[in-house]
Amino acid sequence: MTLVNAYAAPAEAAPLEKTTIERRALGPLDVLIDIAYAGICHSDIHTVRGDWGARQYPLAPGHEITGTVSAVGSQVSRHTVGDRVGVGCMVNSCGECRQCLRGDEQFCAQGAVFTYGSTDRDGTVTQGGYSEQVVVTESFVVKVPDALALDVAAPLLCAGITTYSPLSRAQVGPGTRVAVVGLGGLGHMGVQIAHALGAEVTVLSQTLSKKDDGLRLGADHYFATSDPETFRNLRGSFDVILNTVSATIDLRAYLGLLDIGGSMVCVGLPSEPLPVNLGSLIGGRKSLSGSNIGGIRETQEMLDFCAEKGIAAEIEVIPASDINAAYDRVLASDVRYRFVIDAATFAD
Ligand code: NAP
Ligand code: ZN
Repeated sequence: MTLVNAYAAPAEAAPLEKTTIERRALGPLDVLIDIAYAGICHSDIHTVRGDWGARQYPLAPGHEITGTVSAVGSQVSRHTVGDRVGVGCMVNSCGECRQCLRGDEQFCAQGAVFTYGSTDRDGTVTQGGYSEQVVVTESFVVKVPDALALDVAAPLLCAGITTYSPLSRAQVGPGTRVAVVGLGGLGHMGVQIAHALGAEVTVLSQTLSKKDDGLRLGADHYFATSDPETFRNLRGSFDVILNTVSATIDLRAYLGLLDIGGSMVCVGLPSEPLPVNLGSLIGGRKSLSGSNIGGIRETQEMLDFCAEKGIAAEIEVIPASDINAAYDRVLASDVRYRFVIDAATFAD
């Protein structure tokens, strides 16, 4: 066991502060990663603010991790020292249930072990990537393609896979009319990925303030949801709506934007339930679904896809001392489009 520098919330809703956390000794199948960058996901903020229920504290968040392998256990075969690697939202699962066997480790029947705030199989509580190093079972470590720099690749480990998975499962491609709701961390990846898949992409944002960015990222159209005309003019216009909003929205209004047979997939997870009128679905053979990150194999596929298409996150690199200020900016929808912590600053 070693102690590493980290930033953690000492209690629910408390600001994060500098601390040290424990990393386990390297087991035979473990990989030790020197973390280079850790993205700030809105889920980190929901978690430490208690939006999704009680957690054990102190809690170091962070599930968008990139870095370099600095040691490997005796039986590790997939990674070697010096490899550029990533770790996303999960660090373990049973590996034997139906879900794990088909590559949906996030839905493991025994419960996937998430990267932070989750009870690991040895009984310890996991601590996330806002730290200098992490020890992870080799099968939950993916390779970062050479074409992707480690800083802009970090957000792909959550924001990238969370938008890639539902878009590729919906078989989005040329001729598909996709709307992405919310141009934040997830949304800005969703726009780039849907565009790279060949879809016609529309951004639905609260205002037009980020319109130029949205179009530059690959959107064909951009509308403000604060304008009631948007919901009138775009009625029945989309095959797929990807909802990335971290707050409650009027589902009925958005379902009205789907064409007959269209589907809305939600990845944003606000703390409050959203009411839905079944008539909004039945009246147009529409579907409403959710999606949770993606499996490990799919995460590697997404990284390779992004490398091949030349897409990655647009980021603002910050020192660890700016984490709390960055949280406030994310909550104010003032993120362009992901904060990424430079792990070299956890020791400062
Ligand atoms: P983010 O960067 O804060 O982006 C969320 C965007 O939602 C904002 O940029 C804003 O876009 C829009 N928004 C915020 N408040 C709103 C409101 N009151 N009304 C309408 N729109 C609003 O957050 P993120 O990191 O992308 O995460 C988004 C959500 O996805 C969070 O709930 C997060 O926990 C969840 N998440 C889910 C998964 C999964 O696997 N399902 C994975 C990761 C994250 P505009 O300024 O453009 O309006
Ligand atoms: Zn996340």
